[in-house]
Formats: sequence, structure tokens, C-alpha cells
Amino acid sequence: MQKKCAVFLAVLLFAALLSSCGNAAESRLFMMDTVMDLKLWGDGAKECLRDMQTVLSELDRDLSAYRKESELVRVNSGEELSVGRYMLEVTSAALEYSERTDGAFSPLLGSLIELWGVGEKNYVPTSEEISAALFGTELSNVELSGEKIALKNGAKLNLGAITKGYASDIMRDMLIKHNVPRAVVSLGGNVYVHGTKEDNTPWNVALRDPKGGENDYFATVSLSDRFVISSGDYERYFERDGVRYHHIMDPKTGAPARSDLLAAIVVSENGALGDAYSTATYVMGRERALEFWRENTDFELVLVGRDGTVTVTECLSDCFTPVDGRYTYETASR
Ligand code: AMP
Ligand code: MG
Repeated sequence: MQKKCAVFLAVLLFAALLSSCGNAAESRLFMMDTVMDLKLWGDGAKECLRDMQTVLSELDRDLSAYRKESELVRVNSGEELSVGRYMLEVTSAALEYSERTDGAFSPLLGSLIELWGVGEKNYVPTSEEISAALFGTELSNVELSGEKIALKNGAKLNLGAITKGYASDIMRDMLIKHNVPRAVVSLGGNVYVHGTKEDNTPWNVALRDPKGGENDYFATVSLSDRFVISSGDYERYFERDGVRYHHIMDPKTGAPARSDLLAAIVVSENGALGDAYSTATYVMGRERALEFWRENTDFELVLVGRDGTVTVTECLSDCFTPVDGRYTYETASR
């Protein structure tokens, strides 16, 4: 019922908030279980926005975890399915990033995530139930051949930690194709900033304070043509007997990750990578996340620790500005 209302609201928002004036265009819509804000400026903005909305509804149609007929749901129900470009690309990317993060990001936690139902049924499972839900989570249970996907051994995909990032990659490609000079795309808080502001300076992206409310931020980063993607235990959780159970699972234990971080924020040139890595680095915790960063050159990190220390990787230090002294800041070097 809640979902139906959300979808209805989405349609209303879609209709009511699509507004364009001059050569700027903006829209807010609700898809993929999330609020999306698209703001475009300059020549081609209106046409591009229209195309982006069409493609977002195609992505939602294929990748939604809530639509009975989506390719994702059909693959999860055990069908061997010839899938379209989006499902194929996002699944391949998910397998690759899972390997690269040594399993900290896992696309096969479908049964486990359903079992806990964080934000829905909010259930604390027994260790037997957890072991059963972890069965079949090895990547070898995904068979990809040509355009066909099939799952073995009861494996179930959950692509919630990568789909929005992947969708923002597609949005970026469309902005380039339409030659739109500047845009800000926010898919459920995953931000992509395209080009520069009108005065040719970089965009300032606010980083949400994991200890604060929705509009409270602790720092800004000045960037162009980059994705800024955050993961943290503040995003979705429930409390039982004084314990916070949040939505980011440690695939090794089958329970919410006991990370020393409140939030992991990735800055990258690739949205799917940024999304997968923000989830993975949160699971890894500060030390392993920094090791992982030292071994790879395709992303930068801002790690907000439970101990009140924020670690910023060196390439970001010039564009990172804290709003005040609420955290202690340190720079990590390679
Ligand atoms: P994100 O907000 O991108 O960090 O994604 C979190 C969502 O991804 C959760 O709500 C789960 O649906 C799913 N998820 C939880 N833990 C993991 C994990 N370790 N690897 C991949 N997906 C996960
Ligand atoms: Mg993610």
C-alpha cells in the first residue's frame, strides 16, 4: 500500500514539478524507491531532460526490486532470462566491483537483506537463519552468457548498492550526448555535478553530516564532472534493545557491518564504481578502506569516523572545506 502511494505521488510529482524556463530545465521524480532531482542549464537542457526522464523510467522498469515484471525480479525468481543493456551492464559491473573489493560489496545478498528487512519488517534473525540466507552468495552462482542471466543455488541479486550510481552514469552520458554545459543530478543523494557553474567555477557539493539532520552538512567539496556518493548507517536503520541495526551488511557475518565509520563518501569519475565502493569502504572500515584506496587510483575518499576524525585522501584536500570544527580533520597520503 505504501509503495502504491509512493508511485502515485511519483506521478503527481513528475507532472507538477517538471518546470522549465528559458534554457534551464528541472524535474523532481520518484523512481527506484528514491527521490531524484535533475537540474540542467544551457542549450539542449529541455530536450536532454525529457530524454533523461524516459531513460530513468526504462531503468526503473528493468531494475526495480519492487516491480513484479522487472528483469531483476524475474531473474531472482529463477528464470533464465535474456536481458536488456541496463540489467546486463549493471550486473557485470556489480560482479567486477565485488571481486575488486574482495567481497565487501556483494550483489548476492538478496535473501539476507530480505531476511533482516531493515526499514520494513525490522527483524533480528537467528544465526541459523543468517547462515541459511548466506548460502549461495558466491559470485560463481551468477551465470552470464551473452545476453542471458541465470542464478544457481537459490542465489538472489540485490543491486540496491549500485543501481543509482549506474543510473547516474547513464545520465552523465546523456548530458554529454546533448552537449548540455552544466547540470546537477541527484539520485537519492548520489550526486553528479556536470561542467561548472555559470561563472566557470566548480560546483560546491555539500557533504551531509551523518550525526545531523537531512540538511545538516559538515563540509563541501568543489568539483566538476564528478560523482559524490555516500553510504552510512544513518541512512536506514531500526533500534532494538538499545542496539542500532542498519542496512549495510557485512557479507562475512551476515549482520549489519560493525564499521568504525559513520559514513564513507567516494568521489569518482564513474557512478557505478563510486556507489559500489562507498558501500564497500563503509563495510571495510577506515584502515582497510585506506589500504584499498592506496592500491587503486580511480577514486578518492572522505571517511567520517565514529571517533570524530574525518580522513580526506590527498587529491581531495585542495577542494575540501569543512564548515566548522565539529570534526577533527586529517589527510591520508599514498
Ligand atoms: P548504499 O546506500 O549504496 O550503501 O546501499 C545499501 C543497500 O545495498 C542496502 O539497503 C542493501 O539493499 C544493499 N546492501 C547492503 N549491504 C550490502 C553489501 N555489503 N554489498 C552490496 N549491497 C549491500
Ligand atoms: Mg552504494
